[in-house]
Amino acid sequence: MAERELDPTVGALRGEDVEDRDWERVQPRRISDADWKRFEGYAAEILRAMGMPLDTPGTAKTPGRFLSALFDSTEGYEGDAKLVTAFPTECRGGPDCEISQVVEGPIPFYSLCEHHAFPFFGHAFIGYVAHEHIIGISKLTRLVRMFARRFTVQERMGSEITNALSRILQAHGVALYLEAVHLCTQMRGVRESEQTTRTTFWRGNYEATPALREEFLAIAGAHTNGHRS
Ligand SMILES: [Zn+2]
Ligand SMILES: [Zn+2]
Repeated sequence: MAERELDPTVGALRGEDVEDRDWERVQPRRISDADWKRFEGYAAEILRAMGMPLDTPGTAKTPGRFLSALFDSTEGYEGDAKLVTAFPTECRGGPDCEISQVVEGPIPFYSLCEHHAFPFFGHAFIGYVAHEHIIGISKLTRLVRMFARRFTVQERMGSEITNALSRILQAHGVALYLEAVHLCTQMRGVRESEQTTRTTFWRGNYEATPALREEFLAIAGAHTNGHRS
């Protein structure tokens, strides 16, 4: 049983996580040509009703391009076969293993809010206290992207990333910080000024150790401030 736990592909076969593990089976979406043609008709109808002239050189193909963009922006539903590779490291045990964190970021992401199907986008920072596995920034970027490129909300996206990472790394702790702007509110004048939504997620040692959280947020905060100035 202990062996299985350390294998990220079979880790944590506990009932509650079944839904989160869908990404381990890659499932390409298939839309038939007939369906696609019909959808283009729907998109054209909607765009025209909103006021878009569809008979100009710039817009004649817009319904099809709109659908393609929507399809590409939601490819996270298909999973990611190249994702699950954590590198072995050595848990030295003792106090150091319990408190030394790795912080990676900023990882840019683009997502679609499930309430309006409008974009929200921003940056993620990931922290973890490694036990016997570490993971590179490119894999972390893939992980964030896979859960971002869907219709979702910032909170769910965050807990999915955190849960998946906990499972892949079997770490002593996992932390995630997300900051994003949501166009569904900003483009429609619901809020006047640019506003950033920030969410944090904690697992394992981060839950019990305020100093770890503070250190993580200090690193993430310093980077994002620098990033946005
Ligand atoms: Zn929205
Ligand atoms: Zn350890």
